[in-house]
Amino acid sequence: MGQQFGRPTLWNSLKRGFRRTCPRCGQGRMFAGYLTAKESCAHCGLVFEPLRADDAPAYFTISIVGHVVVTGYLATESILHPPVWLQLAIWMPGTLGMTLGLLPFVKGAVMGAIFSSQAKRGRAF
Ligand SMILES: [Zn+2]
Repeated sequence: MGQQFGRPTLWNSLKRGFRRTCPRCGQGRMFAGYLTAKESCAHCGLVFEPLRADDAPAYFTISIVGHVVVTGYLATESILHPPVWLQLAIWMPGTLGMTLGLLPFVKGAVMGAIFSSQAKRGRAF
């Protein structure tokens, strides 16, 4: 067989996934497009198909962005008291931008976490 890899820690797998690189080797790219995972790692050959994140990345992204937006809206309101139209003009595109900007990285991190949990259970990787 080829290269041997130590068992990845959850933290390492999360970091590598968040960088959108392979959770096992941290070298190969995990995505072919915005959210489309490649079939396998070009560097170590890890097959990405079993790392199905389903809708967990969307859930986590909405949860993170929701906290930022609600906190930001309320803080802006209580400190600066801007008109509602200005608040909406800032936070509505902000919500969309943060969601779309964060989603691919959260998806990578979720796939990294799945890889870590499957590797710990002794699946063949
Ligand atoms: Zn790899």
